[in-house]
Amino acid sequence: MGHGWEGAVLKLLRGKDFTFTVTDTEAVNDRLRRIRLSDGGMLAVTGTHPTMWVRLWFERAGKPHQRGYTLVDPDPEKGTFGLEFVLHPGPASDWARAARPGDTIEATVHGTEFTRPEPAPAHLYVIGDPASLPAINSLLDELGEASATIWYETSHPLDERLPMRLDPARHQLRTVLRRDKGAGLVEEIRSTLPDLLRSHRSTDEYYVWVACDTVTTRSLATYLRKELSVPKPRVKALGYWRPA
Ligand SMILES: Cc1cc2nc3c(=O)[nH]c(=O)nc-3n(C[C@H](O)[C@H](O)[C@H](O)COP(=O)(O)OP(=O)(O)OC[C@H]3O[C@@H](n4cnc5c(N)ncnc54)[C@H](O)[C@@H]3O)c2cc1C
Repeated sequence: MGHGWEGAVLKLLRGKDFTFTVTDTEAVNDRLRRIRLSDGGMLAVTGTHPTMWVRLWFERAGKPHQRGYTLVDPDPEKGTFGLEFVLHPGPASDWARAARPGDTIEATVHGTEFTRPEPAPAHLYVIGDPASLPAINSLLDELGEASATIWYETSHPLDERLPMRLDPARHQLRTVLRRDKGAGLVEEIRSTLPDLLRSHRSTDEYYVWVACDTVTTRSLATYLRKELSVPKPRVKALGYWRPA
């Protein structure tokens, strides 16, 4: 499959192309499908990092559609990793629903990165939803010594039953039902986060990580930087999906 103008741009930016092969699939529930893949040599070239993601190429009506997905438990020695697809209408979800062992999928690696916050934060503030849950899990694994407050926006009855790697001794989960296209989550953050941030002696004590839909993420990123004056190195925000 050709990758269109997006593929051409990624080539110019030195994106690396790979072909993955499905080795196993698991219907976790009606909301989530987990797929295990062999990496086509990717991990030996790229290494791994928390929140690592790849751009997968799906075809619909003869056209390429690029979507980001997060690696789950990548194993560089075996050259394998998992992907967890939250299911809704769309080419990526359709591919995941139908995937069988032996199927292949093309991928480009570009733009994924993780800079470990220095100094290491004692506390993490995480704002996300089911699409960013695999990334949240890898972040909590990586910054294992830190405690965390996680605002998790749900929009489906099964969202609270998706695989979260929380340690109740250190991680506090605050579930927020999606309302008004994400405005409910923004309101919740505005009414709770300022007091929490004020409880720290220095901004070095915490790190804020945001990955919701693109509009909500942009709104939260602006709020954090402009109104709460969170310094740039202490916040990372990336929109994960475009709301209809
Ligand atoms: C860095 C990165 C990592 C990501 N990792 C993952 C991951 O590990 N697992 C995962 O499931 N997703 C992940 N996503 C999100 C995923 O790429 C998007 O949800 C993508 O749009 C799904 O493509 P689709 O073809 O299924 O639907 P699309 O064709 O993009 O959209 C179809 C319809 O579904 C809606 N929609 C799309 N995504 C969502 C959603 N998440 N929730 C509610 N409605 C939605 C759209 O608004 C649209 O109306 C990641 C995104 C990024 C940027």
